[in-house]
Amino acid sequence: MARDYDCIVLGLGGIGSGAAYWLARGGRSRVLGLEQFEFGHVRGESQDHSRIIRLSYHAPNYVRLAKRAYESWEALESDAKTRVVLKTGGLDLGPRVSAIPLQGYADAMTACDVSFERLDAHEIMRRWPQFTLADDIEGLYQSQSGLVMAERANDAHRRMARAHGAVLRDNAPVEWIRDTDGELEVRAGGTTYRCAKLVIAAGPWSNSALANFGLRLPLEITKEQVTYFASPHLAAFAPERFPVWIWMDDPSFYGFPVFGEAGPKVAQDAGGLPVDPDSRTFEPDTENLARVENFMRRYLPTALGPVIRTKTCLYTLTPDRDFVVDRIPGHPNVSFAIGAGHAFKFASVIGRILGELVVDGGTASDIAGFSAERPILREIDPPKTYMV
Ligand SMILES: Cc1cc2nc3c(=O)[nH]c(=O)nc-3n(C[C@H](O)[C@H](O)[C@H](O)COP(=O)(O)OP(=O)(O)OC[C@H]3O[C@@H](n4cnc5c(N)ncnc54)[C@H](O)[C@@H]3O)c2cc1C
Repeated sequence: MARDYDCIVLGLGGIGSGAAYWLARGGRSRVLGLEQFEFGHVRGESQDHSRIIRLSYHAPNYVRLAKRAYESWEALESDAKTRVVLKTGGLDLGPRVSAIPLQGYADAMTACDVSFERLDAHEIMRRWPQFTLADDIEGLYQSQSGLVMAERANDAHRRMARAHGAVLRDNAPVEWIRDTDGELEVRAGGTTYRCAKLVIAAGPWSNSALANFGLRLPLEITKEQVTYFASPHLAAFAPERFPVWIWMDDPSFYGFPVFGEAGPKVAQDAGGLPVDPDSRTFEPDTENLARVENFMRRYLPTALGPVIRTKTCLYTLTPDRDFVVDRIPGHPNVSFAIGAGHAFKFASVIGRILGELVVDGGTASDIAGFSAERPILREIDPPKTYMV
């Protein structure tokens, strides 16, 4: 039996790597991070070259958190001496009457003093002739949007966590956890560790980890995918000339300029089917790809070309698509987060908050909307709202 750590982080994907970094950087905790697979594995949610980052969100609490997200990435960048955010500008666009009204985004940004531009179809096509749009399409442009270099950011978090003294172990699946009067025992990879605080960032395996505390949430794990296309007009999709974008309707699509592969990346949001994270395959869904290609044929024809590769990846969805960032009810020394399929941009700041919750007992960030005890999470078969 070893008791060498103040805080253990379970899961070293995007959020857990962030938590390990911020806990170790504070210098107040001896930190152990435990990852069940190899570092940088592709079975979870946080792999690939890029994830969209944006201030443009549908509610003020997300916009405020996004501001703190940029600050956290900047702090990591200057500590790790490596760049992880690339600002390309971001365009939210869709039909005037749509399943995801742009007005909510405009209102939330206005409430949080975030500047943006409203563009009609003509102006969007004047700036980015890569799009082919009818008159009823409108958009919001926000200049700070861009991409987080996901794999590079995860590596930077883990590298700097170690530089600040954390011990990180891969191939160390946590088998069980016991909480005895606030003293935690964590069994992983043949060793039982004792610690005072625990951060759980288990992504698609969250319910297995939470079961140690008698908690189960109505989460749906889906297998999503992104596709890189060998556009014959590659230069038109360079990051200096083409923004990240989101099609704000149901179905919702999104895309990136060329980054990490030799072509732009396009995907459908929440277009995947439910899976078990342990038995899922890595085979692309051809119907999902066909929906993406049909969309591109109509609205973004010059991006279309032969498929370079399709990568699959998991979403851990809450029924309302809001995050969970909280302590486990009845266990104030254990915090956890569920990313609801849009949390990579927040991975650093959510990791930071998870550490604040267990070490400081609270956070300056507004996480009231991300409570583990909100009514919809107590329902067994809640209605699902994935288009936000
Ligand atoms: C295709 C796709 C596109 C996306 N696009 C965006 C985007 O553009 N912008 C954005 O902000 N977000 C995006 N997201 C969402 C974002 O990537 C996720 O919300 C985020 O990566 C979640 O990180 P996580 O740390 O919670 O999960 P993960 O990265 O899956 O990490 C969980 C880790 O816990 C480990 N683990 C689990 N159980 C145990 C155990 N018992 N013992 C030890 N280790 C354990 C797992 O192995 C895993 O490594 C996208 C997601 C996908 C799939």
